[in-house]
Amino acid sequence: RAQVIAVDGPSGVGKGMVVRGLASRLGWHRLDSGALYRILALAAQAASIDLADTDRVAALAAKLDIRFDGDTEEDERILVNGTDVVKEVRSETTGGLASQIATAPAVRAALLQRQRDFRVAPGLIADGRDMGTVVFPDAGLKIFLTASAEERAKRRANQLSARGQVVRLADLSAEIRARDERDRTRAVAPLVPAPDAVEIDTSLLNPAQVFERIDELLKT
Ligand code: C5P
Repeated sequence: RAQVIAVDGPSGVGKGMVVRGLASRLGWHRLDSGALYRILALAAQAASIDLADTDRVAALAAKLDIRFDGDTEEDERILVNGTDVVKEVRSETTGGLASQIATAPAVRAALLQRQRDFRVAPGLIADGRDMGTVVFPDAGLKIFLTASAEERAKRRANQLSARGQVVRLADLSAEIRARDERDRTRAVAPLVPAPDAVEIDTSLLNPAQVFERIDELLKT
């Protein structure tokens, strides 16, 4: 079976940066599992499906043809049934909708195999909330990233403004906290480190230092 590195943690912690960096250095594939929840929430909304009607939301998952394109954040494209929806996918509003549907077991089950299908040789770097606990429990390396809530809100604000989105730090900070709280306290696949995950607190680390830590882990 192809190898997997699982990268989990709360929003704005830098999982995307780590996953892109590792994928390009190792030449492995990449799975942004959060994008699948985001895409499904948007598609349900577009189809006028009540997000609380989780069986209908889950059923919609099978009808979506999803293609990820582009190696960097700047040239990223996400094609859903042929249309590029990257801008909508990346907004914090969509992040909130994603975390609502993500509490439903039916929705999580509907996306499970789709995530596992990304496991293709030579290997996969997958990021999300439950990569190490549920989706790839046999991952060869599990990393759990953390950072203070203030630092994560700042990082997410920088990222969104680089994408041309207008954000107020105070609002964003509140939205991220609400989303993390929901992700941590939900009954299914809550955001917790796998027992065998290595935690890295990135609050005081720059990207180069984060990669140094991970390189040490890859050598052992
Ligand atoms: O990582 P991202 O911010 O794109 O994820 C959006 C939301 O999708 C998360 O807040 C979480 O509720 C949900 N999610 C999840 N499990 C994953 C990835 C994302 O529940 N593996």
